[in-house]
Parts: sequence; C-alpha cells; structure tokens
Amino acid sequence: MKIKMILPALTEAKSPYWRPIKYSLFPPLGLATLAAYCSPDDEIDLQDEHVEELNIHDDPDLVIIQVYITNAFRSYKLADHYRKKGAYVCLGGLHVSSLPEEAKQHADSIFIGPGEDTFPQFLDDFRKGAARVVYVNGKRNIEDIPSIRRDLIKRDHYLVPNSIVVSRGCPHHCDFCYKDAFFEGGKSFYTQRVDAALKEIERLPGRHLYFLDDHLLGTQKFATALFDGMKGMNRVFQGASTVDAILRGNLIEKAAEAGLRSVFVGFETLSNANLSQSNKKQNLGRNYEEAINRLHSLGIMINGSFVFGLDDDDKDVFKRTVEWGVKNGLTTATYHILTPYPGTRLYQSMKDEARILHSNWDLYDTRNVVYQTKGLTAEQLRQGYDYAYRSFYSWSNIWKASWQHGELKHTIKHFAYAGGWKKFEPLWNFMIKTKGLNKMLPLLEAILSKVKGKDILHDQRQPFPAIA
Ligand code: SF4
Repeated sequence: MKIKMILPALTEAKSPYWRPIKYSLFPPLGLATLAAYCSPDDEIDLQDEHVEELNIHDDPDLVIIQVYITNAFRSYKLADHYRKKGAYVCLGGLHVSSLPEEAKQHADSIFIGPGEDTFPQFLDDFRKGAARVVYVNGKRNIEDIPSIRRDLIKRDHYLVPNSIVVSRGCPHHCDFCYKDAFFEGGKSFYTQRVDAALKEIERLPGRHLYFLDDHLLGTQKFATALFDGMKGMNRVFQGASTVDAILRGNLIEKAAEAGLRSVFVGFETLSNANLSQSNKKQNLGRNYEEAINRLHSLGIMINGSFVFGLDDDDKDVFKRTVEWGVKNGLTTATYHILTPYPGTRLYQSMKDEARILHSNWDLYDTRNVVYQTKGLTAEQLRQGYDYAYRSFYSWSNIWKASWQHGELKHTIKHFAYAGGWKKFEPLWNFMIKTKGLNKMLPLLEAILSKVKGKDILHDQRQPFPAIA
C-alpha cells in the first residue's frame, strides 16, 4: 500500500516575517512514530512542508495529515485535494482533538487524542475495508511502542534531527494549554519504559539530543532512572521543565550530570494574579530567581517562556519582563501573546464572556490578538510583544544577560548561543538552502559542552560595556 504522511506548514512559517530556521529545527516525530505501525511492505512517503516542497501530484492509497491550529486550513485543503483524487484521508493531531466536527468534514477518518493505540487499530480495520470515521484514544500506554521510523526522516533538513520524546503529556493543568483537551478521557501523563528510552537514545548518532517532552522532569522515578542510565553516555541535551521540578529534590543535578545543558522553563508571568487566572499552580509562590541560580550554578542555559495579555498585565509588563530576563541571565526568551486555543478551559471561559473575536485559526499563532483584552489594548499588546523580542535580543541586552554568570565560559557560551540563534539569519538561510543544517551540529554541541570549574573572571559582576 502507498501511504503518504504529511505535516503541512504552519501558516506563520510561510509569512514573510518568519525565520526559516525556527521551522527547520525538529523532524515530524509524531508521524514517524505512527509509521512504525505500518507493514514493512507499505511504501511510505513522509513529507514535512516546513523543509521541502510538497509533492501533491502523487497517488497514494492512504493519506495521514497532522493538524495543528495554524495549519488547519492548509491541512483541510490538502485533505480535500487527496480525497478528490480517490485517496483515503485521515486527520489527527491537536486541532482535530479539539474540533472533531470541523475536521470530520475533510476526512474519511479522524483520530482523537494520541494515535499510538488508535492508529494500529485503524490500519487493521482499513485493510479489512471496515475503517470507522472516528477513533478515540482511551488506553494510554507507550511502554511497548515500536521504534520510530527514523529512516523516513530527512536528517540533513533539520538542525536538530536527534529529537526524541520519552513521555506523553504533563502532570499539570494550565488553563491555556492544549494538553488537557488532547488527553481528555484518560491519563494525561505517562512515560515509556526506561530501558526502551535508553535504547532509543543509543540509536541516535552524535552527542546532541533534544527532548521534546512537555515536562522531562515530570516524574521523579522515571526521570531519575533515565538520567542515571544516561550517565557516561557522553551526551549533551536540551529539554523542558517547570520551575517547581527544578527546585525540588536533586533531580536537576542528576539531569546536569547526564548532560542537560539548556532547559526551556515556562515562567509565563511575573504576576501571581496571572498565575492564578491560568491555574498555573505549580509556579505560584515559587522563587524563580532561586531556580535560575540553581540552573546557572550547574552550567545550564535557560530559555524562558512568557505569555503576555493575561488580565493582570498592564502596559509596563513588556519592559518589566524583558528587564527581569536580562537581569537574571536568561540565554533566550520565547514570548507569546495569550492565545485561547479551542478545547482549552481558557477558550471556554473567554467564550462564556463573549471575548473571542473570531475563528480565523491562521491567526491563532501567539503573535496576534484574537480575544478581547483587559488591562491593555490589543494594539498595546501587539506592540509590546514586538518590543519584547526586539529589546531582549538587542546586542546590548544579549551582552548584559551574558554577563550575569559567574564564569567566563558560561558568559561566552551564552553570548554565542543567543547571538548565533538570533543574529545570523543569512547564515541559517544559507545552510537551509544548501541542505547542510545538520553540519552545524558539532558547533551546537561545542556550545553546549560542559562549563568546567570556576575558570574565570568576575568574582564580582562586571559593569557592562555599552554596545549598540
Ligand atoms: S506545565 Fe506546560 S505542558 Fe504542563 S499543562 Fe502547563 S503549560 Fe501545559
């Protein structure tokens, strides 16, 4: 059977303002995971529109499309195209789980929730000519999933081909997050077996790994065993954690020992009222600075995530948040405009208050204001968001933030990582064009290598030289 798997481009990825590198980081692991359930006789073509031109002139028997909110319209167009050609079309992913009725109009079958249990069932039914319209995941278990079909991934198209996911979901329940909608009706946080995760890591060439798990430190038992198992593997890796898990016990030390060199942390907001509004209880009352100092003392760089537009925000929130990030030496920052995704509690409460402005999913990209704001106007929010990115990534602020570390090596790594990521667009574009992105990996590995000892310079913080 000929099977086509497609990750359509997110709308923002095609905007003239997009940074192509941002969409050339990770391969479509979800589709490659589902591909592992197909028969060895199946002919599978996996295409990611972010990094290649789609071939839509083919004639597959079965088409599987992964739908996010900002590629939903594009996905539906592709689905309609292939159905017209006589292919059987399946849609799955976050947006389909949130709005199944909408997705159903463009598909022969849809998948609600994670696909590991439902996709093999579907394949069975499909081969017998008895596929159902809706498949709902109920059983949550990834202990015995087959190995991801990494052979279908075009490694040279990505900066981080060694991305990996060893768990599903997250133990928390923030109101703006997709997670609860996607995992409704069953467990919303579960992991692989540790030995299987370690085996998958061993399959990956080179040193660098990027864990795409929502919360790599989400369970003490699993994470401890994983990090213990990784010790001595000579890996450097990046992943995500909450403030809470960084402060608790000694898991973060174990992660550092195993090779954690950079972590994505959802600080989200500096306001307690905003944290309460978002049900982000795990951040409430936590000392952000203490978590940051702990990470820095372990030589771990930080990518801080922030949301603007919660109801307690005022017009000064942008400056305050940027200055706080710089003062605390965050290496990179990811800012978002609050976005009420359908299916989330945030969406429901805004809908109840008649605050949702429209359903143009293309604009639900965390860069546009799609709801009625409070505390600041939509224009202030939009401009403040642009200001935050511009200001945090100005050379002077990159320099200032780099100088917040106690060791010169950390300062240099910070400067190289932040500057390299944000300030060398032509180089990234060239590498993408020449399909040489993964040649940059050794450089990334070098930047992420361990900061050893207290090797230099400022016992006391130095004044910042002025850089424009
Ligand atoms: S901690 Fe992160 S992944 Fe977990 S529910 Fe909150 S926003 Fe979602």
